[in-house]
Amino acid sequence: MKQVRNTKQRQIVLNVVQEHHDHPTAEQIFIDVREKDEKISRGTVYRNLHHLAQKNEILHVRIPGADRYDWRIDLHYHLVCTKCGEVSDLALPYNPSLDDKVEEATGYKVERHRTIFEGICPACQDKMD
Ligand SMILES: [Zn+2]
Ligand SMILES: [Zn+2]
Repeated sequence: MKQVRNTKQRQIVLNVVQEHHDHPTAEQIFIDVREKDEKISRGTVYRNLHHLAQKNEILHVRIPGADRYDWRIDLHYHLVCTKCGEVSDLALPYNPSLDDKVEEATGYKVERHRTIFEGICPACQDKMD
């Protein structure tokens, strides 16, 4: 029975991440998961997030300040607003030639690169005027 409960909990965590398209923090996911299963502990949610990211079912995005989770698992770049902390996807394609250049320059076998652009989002710019 414990196994069934574990699987169910993992599915709830996965569903919550996939319902969000705004790169939620683990804490935001925990709050939403609790609405669906009030007995689930914070540790269980965090553990399941880690497991799902390891299995490549969700993406763990390391953003300064707080780790975020992403329903999108394809390689893509992120933008983070240094004012409000919003994290969004960049609508530019992943550039594999950068990986090739780094391989040539360093001899590394490059698997991928992760890039985060930092700046001020349009909404925050409006508030500054
Ligand atoms: Zn902002
Ligand atoms: Zn993303």
